[in-house]
Amino acid sequence: MDVTIFGSGYVGLVTGVCLAEVGNRVLCIDVDPAKIALLNSGGVPIYEPGLDELIKQNREAGRLTFSTDPEEGVRHGLFQFIAVGTPPDEDGSADLQYVLAVARSIGEHMDSYRILVNKSTVPVGTADKVAAAVREAQSARDVAVEFDVVSNPEFLKEGAAIDDFMRPDRIIVGTDNPRTGELLRALYAPFNRNHDRVMVMDVRSAELTKYAANAMLATKISFMNELSNIAEAVGADIEKVRVGIGSDPRIGYQFIYPGCGYGGSCFPKDVRALERTARSLGYDPELLHAVEAVNFRQKDLLFKKISEYFKGDLAGRTIAVWGLSFKPNTDDMREASSRVLIESLWAAGAKVRAFDPVAMPETNRIYGERTDMVLADDAMSALDGADALAVLTEWSQFRSPDFRTIKDKLKAGVIFDGRNIFDPGQISAAGLHYVSIGRAPVL
Ligand code: NAD
Repeated sequence: MDVTIFGSGYVGLVTGVCLAEVGNRVLCIDVDPAKIALLNSGGVPIYEPGLDELIKQNREAGRLTFSTDPEEGVRHGLFQFIAVGTPPDEDGSADLQYVLAVARSIGEHMDSYRILVNKSTVPVGTADKVAAAVREAQSARDVAVEFDVVSNPEFLKEGAAIDDFMRPDRIIVGTDNPRTGELLRALYAPFNRNHDRVMVMDVRSAELTKYAANAMLATKISFMNELSNIAEAVGADIEKVRVGIGSDPRIGYQFIYPGCGYGGSCFPKDVRALERTARSLGYDPELLHAVEAVNFRQKDLLFKKISEYFKGDLAGRTIAVWGLSFKPNTDDMREASSRVLIESLWAAGAKVRAFDPVAMPETNRIYGERTDMVLADDAMSALDGADALAVLTEWSQFRSPDFRTIKDKLKAGVIFDGRNIFDPGQISAAGLHYVSIGRAPVL
């Protein structure tokens, strides 16, 4: 089948390459000429495990092409996927300008039936706005070509995106037109072989399903973070509590890790956008508000702990930071907890020596050259001349370091672990101090 994808970011590229991999002819469109030039020259603008190789193979097979020309995109595919960003507006609601710009482009250029498939995370009711934008663009050129708008939210996880797309837990198709539902079912058939994962539902329920999923996951994290703060206050160990509650199958072990807050391009903005939607309809979403508020506080927690440890005297100190991406296996630093910590350290007059396995080019792009930050060649050299180490992202390569070398390198001999990846016993045996989340410090 012929498929066009508008937006060649994390979602668009992964969707495009996976649909090409199963035999479709896919054209990816992006407004960013540098991104398209890079893709056309064999480069890949983001880090996602397995993506480079799949892009290379499918380009070589002639099934995957890239362009900045929306007209070419509209001509190409029966399916017109929308996978552009929906960043938060100033009031927290989702900014739909990119989604609606694509809808207008499609309306401006289409001359036969098209199916607009919305993969971007958008508030309930957006499909109607997309349809209105297409109709408006069509009527400006005096045409009325038939089309459908489908909500097909994406549930991939950065860092495991290819696998998530290839072996999805569910494929949500929101449409009021059974014929369109069948066409989407056919497109997704290669990913739906082991048992039926396609769930066809009305458009609004599909749109809300995505927000509900992210809000639920964010709630689990904030709940555990709230409990971790209580655990610290009462002298309990949150890691023991985690194992204790996870053993109940109704709770389960997944996604109940305490830490220094969630980030990324989805949870923060989606919780805020859902809260905003609810408020705009006169409903006070108290729980969603608390989820976000707890996370906001939690992202500041590591800085508070560092500041307390050094009795507020951070000026002139150097803090080593391990992990800059918002989670392992991605270079994405949108709303990453590392940014909150680093910026607070700078504000307090401290310097940072940081290392991340893949997110350092992104760090450079965000912060540029600075005298108060050095990006180190590897994890251990990030500790050179540092007073303390802060762990922000639980990359596997950080999990089992040589604590004696760390002890020798760190002037103040203290680790602040924002992801609880270390065993306090092992650290204290090495003579280090250890401050983590929801557990008694080792001092
Ligand atoms: P992204 O910022 O990585 O990519 C968006 C791309 O769209 C950019 O390359 C941008 O240049 C391009 N773009 C903007 N306007 C365009 C236009 N008019 N025509 C063509 N391209 C255009 O975003 P992302 O992380 O891929 O997210 C896209 C959507 O998917 C968002 O709504 C997000 O919430 C949702 N989502 C993201 C993830 C994730 O893990 N990143 C997971 C599920 C859903």
